[in-house]
Amino acid sequence: MGKKSSKLKLETLEDLKTKTKFSDAEILEFYRGFRLECPSGELSIEEFRKLYRGLFPNGNAEKFAEHVFRAFDENRDGTLDFREIMCALSVSSRGTMENKARMAFKIYDLDRDGYITAREMTEILKAMSKMTSKTMDLSPEEKTREIFLRLDKNQDGILSMSEFIQGVQTDSFIMEILTCASKTD
Ligand code: CA
Ligand code: CA
Repeated sequence: MGKKSSKLKLETLEDLKTKTKFSDAEILEFYRGFRLECPSGELSIEEFRKLYRGLFPNGNAEKFAEHVFRAFDENRDGTLDFREIMCALSVSSRGTMENKARMAFKIYDLDRDGYITAREMTEILKAMSKMTSKTMDLSPEEKTREIFLRLDKNQDGILSMSEFIQGVQTDSFIMEILTCASKTD
């Protein structure tokens, strides 16, 4: 329950200026909004799930929210602070294709071992389809097989970061995950 200063620390501002593509004014503006929505200065997994429930009221967003939360929680302390949120926001709104691909990779790579297995991809696709309640032409398992056929160049059954980055340039479906992950307004 420690009272944290509600002012943005100068060092955080400086850090965010180098790590994101936002200006001073934009960062401060976001910060004001953030403190209003989140007075504690940190988003818990439960608050994050709630946010997603609001964004996708017609589906079940629980699992997907957990996966995105895990990917955004850089320092793995179980909460998202302003820095982590701004870094994610910067990539999704202003990042290059490669920045975005790296972020998508992190969401798919559930156990963070640096590779995406078919099981991990299927899990994410399931969570995504539950959340958006969109009917897809293929089941998550079939879709995963189809994606792996194209992306898994050396056919070892797992996707490395470089296979993934090369693949996403030609496969817009894989990047839909980011549209879902960063639906912030
Ligand atoms: Ca964190
Ligand atoms: Ca993995």
